[in-house]
Amino acid sequence: MPTSPSAARAAVSTLTVDEAQSRILARIAPLEPTEVGLLDALGAVLAEDATADRDVPPFRNSAMDGYAVRGADVRQAGVTLRVVGSVSAGALPERTVGAREAMRIMTGAPMPDGADTVVRVEDTDNGVEVVTINAVTPEGIAVRQAGEDLRRGETVLARGTVLRHPEIGVLASIGRAKVRVVRRPNVAVLSTGDELVDIDEEPGPGQIRDANRYSLASAARAMGATPIPLGIVRDTADDLRRALRDAAERADVIVTSGGVSVGDHDHVKPVVDELGSMDFWSIAIRPGRPLAFGEVDGKLIFGLPGNPVSSLLGFELFVRPALLKMAGRTLLQRPRVSARFEDTLDTPPGLRFFARGIYDPGAGTVRTTGPQGSGILRSMALANCFIDVPDTVQHLDRGATVTVIRTDQPEDH
Ligand code: AMP
Ligand code: MG
Repeated sequence: MPTSPSAARAAVSTLTVDEAQSRILARIAPLEPTEVGLLDALGAVLAEDATADRDVPPFRNSAMDGYAVRGADVRQAGVTLRVVGSVSAGALPERTVGAREAMRIMTGAPMPDGADTVVRVEDTDNGVEVVTINAVTPEGIAVRQAGEDLRRGETVLARGTVLRHPEIGVLASIGRAKVRVVRRPNVAVLSTGDELVDIDEEPGPGQIRDANRYSLASAARAMGATPIPLGIVRDTADDLRRALRDAAERADVIVTSGGVSVGDHDHVKPVVDELGSMDFWSIAIRPGRPLAFGEVDGKLIFGLPGNPVSSLLGFELFVRPALLKMAGRTLLQRPRVSARFEDTLDTPPGLRFFARGIYDPGAGTVRTTGPQGSGILRSMALANCFIDVPDTVQHLDRGATVTVIRTDQPEDH
């Protein structure tokens, strides 16, 4: 049953950021596991224990270019040994190494039996028939033992591990061309507003370019989700209904911007109420006070405000942790640090204020990016953090200790 935008006004409840976050996260479960090629696994969460199929390295080998010898023969400098052959990486030694013998060996080549030490070439005269050792060489040095990195059968990476590039390398070394990971969420991104034109169109009188679809789709991609940008939706209930149904069919989560205030053309709330259900919240923050959260055809929908800064802050505070949880992550909060404020700032009473800041980790200081209006998208582009100002504070002086949310750092550190 369609309802009018004014009905939305009655349903608004005021929540803190923490309350809204925990209500949202309570509705979210990780997606199912899926098998992907190793190069598509970056940033995903491992959905199985990965075990080594063999020792890594699989055989004893040299860590240096040099001569494989018996440690007992190189306890003093100046000794001369007979060179009995050469072995390179990928080849096998043709014989063993006996007393007062040496075999030329390249990095990664299998150690010949009998030898237990490698003298690096820089410590020799690089001889071909005989070699003179110019440095005392500790027994056992420059030899990598079989299995010293990974042992066959050992769990190398546990289920739940976030796959960064080093983990991808570990999986490659145990021969995992495919791995089971938690599926990445698909995120439909829609912009609502009669004033919007796409970025390749010339804005006419009263029109502006649609920035949010691009910034929000990119925010989704940046955290490892798959964005599905679905264009501009006009401020009519019909258009919105059609767009949301289509989005629900294609995506796990729908993110809209605009149309969640209580203006005469803010249709998100009534249309979602008709297609599913929606809570319409007033979050005690600035910027980004209105937030709608609900379900369309069984898919979660976040209705973010239209102001470009507000929509991105809403994504950061509410959508990003939700998508991370869907992707199987357990650490959902960015690192927070204390910093010395190098600016002055007035903030609104009774609202938690998220100032866009530039944090200097070396100096431990932070300043604002300049003008802080919710339409000033440049304040986001210049920022590497939010300065989280509690609702009880209305004024910050230079030298104040403030809390910084490091949006330049991932949640898992
Ligand atoms: P609304 O939340 O729809 O009332 O929009 C609030 C403000 O954000 C208005 O000034 C809109 O023109 C602006 N706005 C809404 N959507 C976008 C968008 N996709 N890109 C840039 N600005 C937008
Ligand atoms: Mg609008």
